[in-house]
Amino acid sequence: MSNTVPSLPVFLRLLDRPVLVAGAGHVASRRVDRLLAAGARVTVVAPTAQARIREWADAGRLTWHARAAVAADVDGQLLVFAITDDGDTNAMLAKAAAARNVLVQRADDAAGSDFLVPAVVQRDALQIAISSDGHAPTLARILRTRLDAWIPRAYGDLARLAGEFRDRVKTRLPRQARARFWLRVLDGPIAEKVFSGRMTEARADLDDALSHPEAALPTRGEVYLVGGGPGDPDLLTSRALRLMQRADVVLHDSLIAPAILEMANPDAERIHVGKRAARHTLPQEDINALMVRLAGEGKRVLRLKGGDPFVFGRGGEEIAQLAEAGIAFQVVPGITAASGCAAYAGIPLTHRDYAQSVTFVTGHLKAGELELPWGQLAQRGQTVVFFMAVKSLPIICEKLRAHGLAADWPAALVIEGTTVRQRLIVGSLTDLPARVASEVVQGPALLIVGEVVRLNETLGWFRPDSNTDTQA
Ligand code: SAH
Repeated sequence: MSNTVPSLPVFLRLLDRPVLVAGAGHVASRRVDRLLAAGARVTVVAPTAQARIREWADAGRLTWHARAAVAADVDGQLLVFAITDDGDTNAMLAKAAAARNVLVQRADDAAGSDFLVPAVVQRDALQIAISSDGHAPTLARILRTRLDAWIPRAYGDLARLAGEFRDRVKTRLPRQARARFWLRVLDGPIAEKVFSGRMTEARADLDDALSHPEAALPTRGEVYLVGGGPGDPDLLTSRALRLMQRADVVLHDSLIAPAILEMANPDAERIHVGKRAARHTLPQEDINALMVRLAGEGKRVLRLKGGDPFVFGRGGEEIAQLAEAGIAFQVVPGITAASGCAAYAGIPLTHRDYAQSVTFVTGHLKAGELELPWGQLAQRGQTVVFFMAVKSLPIICEKLRAHGLAADWPAALVIEGTTVRQRLIVGSLTDLPARVASEVVQGPALLIVGEVVRLNETLGWFRPDSNTDTQA
């Protein structure tokens, strides 16, 4: 086989087909595993065999000849895996196979193989095979891992559901209509139901759609309320990413990092709806109404929020109106700034010795006031995380001291956490406000109060290049 001519990818159906595996080591047992799963009639030839292969032989699932392979073993086989440790044996088998027009794979010689075994991402019936044509098997495996992380498990369920309906769709719909029908099913609300675990509903919808094919599938709009995490695009969940790429319209606030916004469907319309303390662009009621309208028009609306939508994100209010209007929606959790900042600042939110609980509170001032249960927040043995607390920082520190926390009680401000611009200002309830006041704080910031803050000295690990000088 020439290395410059590409191979032809095929998926072989091997049920009851004879396959020879010469060799019984590690690789062989992996191959045999897959061959048995594919229903092949497997013969293994090798003087000694791995435990798994011996067990399969004992259970009658394959035939094992405990001896060295000979040319005659190739007779009557459809495929041969020449994967012994011995190059000469492999070469002998390859020659015997070529003489009999049997396809052979050599473990030690990709160029001398008729076929290669790809790295596979599997979701039930759905298989994605990756091959480098023998040039870089490790690269194929790296890609396999990436795809595996990226492709939802539920794609297998989707394939299975489609399989269940395939014959009915065939008899019911003319050829041209079929492809369109499947496209809508496999890339629309029905698929989304499968992905979010609502298999029964999905099946009913599909049944419904097939009973009224002339009515075409309703292009029902839906809303994805998605947490975009604290800033680092790597912290998006795979579900967030998938829905971002399916959206027709993106509604976002100022808190969403441009790098994250870039990952949304490039063809989607983008509407900036938001909200940075003073600079209101759209009042909340208008955002809610806008979502109802867009989804009503049949659009897939992505409502992208910073952090987690249900943590100081008014996510609950936004979907209340959708629920009322009967519009389908799903909520995708995001990494809240509290855990993102804590992780990237090296400050564990709980710790067996210092904090048995953690509380998230808002530091947002209402008419210059902050009404919080200060008595509780000033208890020792806990961590308190204040969102939206830059302006109220002096008040917070003063109140906590007034309610009993020590003057040197540790506190830290994490600014633009998890991004390359992350800054950390560490101090105490007494000196933190002055330290912060002496710096220009732009961008979102989170206040963490508690003894766990001290752990940053030993556990801090994230030091983006541009900011090493500002570590307090
Ligand atoms: N739903 C969001 C919070 C929205 S409230 C979440 O779960 O994270 C907005 C506040 O979140 C900001 O004022 C700030 O206190 C905090 N915040 C969000 N992103 C941040 C970041 N990257 N660094 C520090 N604080 C952040």
